[in-house]
Parts: sequence; C-alpha cells; structure tokens
Amino acid sequence: MSEQNSTSRIARRKTRPVRVGDLIIGDGNRISVQSMCATRTQDIEATLGQIALLQERGADIIRVAVDSKKDVEALGVIRERTNARLVVDLQESYKLAASVAPYVQKIRYNPGHLYHHEKQTPVFEKVRFIVEAARKHSCAVRIGVNFGSLDPEQAGNASDPIEAALASAAEHIGYMEQLNFENFVVSLKSSDPNDVIEINKKFAERHPLIPLHLGVTESGMLPMGEVKTRVAFENLFAAGIGDTVRVSLTLPYEEKYKEIEVGKKIIEDVQAGRFRSVPKFEQKGLNLISCPSCSRVENESFVHLAAQVRELSKYAADEDITIAVMGCRVNGPGETDDADLGLWCAPKHVNFKRRGELLGAFGYDEILPRLKMELDALIAERRQKGAQA
Ligand code: SF4
Repeated sequence: MSEQNSTSRIARRKTRPVRVGDLIIGDGNRISVQSMCATRTQDIEATLGQIALLQERGADIIRVAVDSKKDVEALGVIRERTNARLVVDLQESYKLAASVAPYVQKIRYNPGHLYHHEKQTPVFEKVRFIVEAARKHSCAVRIGVNFGSLDPEQAGNASDPIEAALASAAEHIGYMEQLNFENFVVSLKSSDPNDVIEINKKFAERHPLIPLHLGVTESGMLPMGEVKTRVAFENLFAAGIGDTVRVSLTLPYEEKYKEIEVGKKIIEDVQAGRFRSVPKFEQKGLNLISCPSCSRVENESFVHLAAQVRELSKYAADEDITIAVMGCRVNGPGETDDADLGLWCAPKHVNFKRRGELLGAFGYDEILPRLKMELDALIAERRQKGAQA
C-alpha cells in the first residue's frame, strides 16, 4: 500500500487514478486538498508568497489563473522558484494551454467558456488542443463544470441546471474518450450545497470510474462558507464520493491558507466519524454568496466590499433574499444572474444587478447606499406580497 493509501480511512469509491506530478488523485488514495492564489499572477513575488503560504499549510495542488501571454511569462518565472504542484485555470484563452503546460502539472478548463471566442472553431477541436498540450507535458486535466457558467447549448436543451451540467460533463468525457485521454478529473460546482450533493451523487452513479473534484463555489465568508461546504462534503464523503477538494472562501490574501485548514478539518472529522451538518441544507433567511477571489480580481477592495455587504445586510438576516458579490467581470456577470441582488467588481466601479437586470455601475463609495435602497425595496415588496396572500 502506498503512503497515500495508508492515510485514507474514509470508505471510498474506487475510481481510476489520475496523476498530477507525483500525486495520485482517485484510486482510493487520500483526498487531496487544493487552493488558489488570489494574487495577480504577474506580481511574481506576491504569488510566490501566496504559493509558499498555501504549501506550508499543506496544499497538495495550487491553482493560478493565466489569461494572457504576460501571465504565462510570469508563470515561467514562478515555476523556476517553486516545487509546488501547480494547476492553471484557463478561461476563454484555451490556446494558452500549449504555453502553460510545460510549467504545470494540471490544466483546468470550463466547458462553458469554450463557446465564447473563436465561435467558428468546434468545441471538440479546442478540447483536442488542450488535451494534446496536456499529453505532451504529462499534465492532468480537470473538466470544471460550473452552474454559473454552463455551456449555453446544454443549458438550453436540458430540463434543469443539474441535467444540463451532467450533460455538459458527459459530452466532454466523450471528447476525452475520442482523444484516448484518461488522465482527467471532473468537477461539478454550484453555490448551493444541495445541488452539489445531488449532482455529484448522480455523476458518481453514471461515471463510477472518473475521479471527482468537489467544491461549493462562492461559499462566501467564514463561518457560513465553512457551513455550506461542510454540508456538501460530509454528505458526499459519507457516500464515498470525492477524490480531491477545494474550499472556496472569501478571505484576505494573507488568510487564504484557511481554505486548506477548513478542507483538511472536514476530511479529518468525517474520517473520525464526527459529522456536524444536518442531512439537508435548509437555506432560510439571507443568503450571501461571494467568490473566493483570485488573480482576476480587478480592485483589491473586493474582499473589504464583501465584508461591508455582510455588515450592511445584517438587518435583513431573516429575509429569504440572495445577494451575490463577485470579484471580476470574467465570472461576475454569469454568477450574479440568479441572485436577487448581484454585485461584481470592475477596476473603478461596481456593476449592480437586481434579479438579473443591470441597474448600473456605481463607484465603490456609492454602491452601499444603493444596495441598501434596493434591499429595502425588495423587503417591502415581499412584505406586501405576504400581506396580499
Ligand atoms: S468571480 Fe472572478 S475574481 Fe472571483 S474567483 Fe471567480 S474568476 Fe476569480
């Protein structure tokens, strides 16, 4: 038995192994824990500092975002100065896969992001490009399906977001089979822990051999971020599901290691039979969703703004209202669509939506009073409807 196997006490689903450098995901190995750098990748010293911080706390794999050639150059320098297992997060720029693959052990792509650029190129060809880069440099791949940015074709065809996400994953697994590539994992993430449980259970039934990366996206700040994640992970671990995890928390850069601490603690608790969550997460009252931030954050006030929104909205704690606060324009617009009130941060202003409709862009010093105004209006509207019912 390998050292990795000997530490595992959770009864695990036996998937095929996926190699990420010297780490094996799946095949009964211990559940590995990942995190992501929140620093700008081109700020090499800050990113190396963040990688060291996460590594010291036991991160098995560390993700960095790469959106440009300058980011790739920075990644090359970073690679020379760290031995951490790195995974790169590609967004629309799938062609960067060829230049980042020599520097990393894993490449993540989101099927929903392969539709926006180069519309004339079939998605299969884009996946082929990523896979060939990964194969050439012995990288693993993660097919990262996200409820906030579903492949538009699948979203249009399926009966609900869960089936759309499963269909999108199945389509890309089919591509991997056509390309004869097995060194991949799949993730299916939502900000709702109940969706995360349901979709991963369904996926595990339909694709028993494929390792799963678990996560609740935008679970927000502590302590609620841990609660949402714990509900999903405890349920799934108890069913033997989950081979690697990432806890997504909104934290100041210097506290990013808490994602690793929380992930490890949940794994340890389940191994020791300590379950803390209720079987189903009943979201009652105000639901504050916020992204964990990453190098795409365009104004560092984002984390502070998320904390200010939490403070401001405390008076509405009992209202069944969802507020989403996102750090950038890459994922912000999609991830705020389903919220009652959604904010996403640009360099100089905050875009503000009410139930998917853009209300405008507001300065960082203007957004809180406007948010309060809209929140008051929503509460009044709900009370009025309640009185009429
Ligand atoms: S919303 Fe933007 S800043 Fe936040 S984690 Fe996602 S990509 Fe990064």
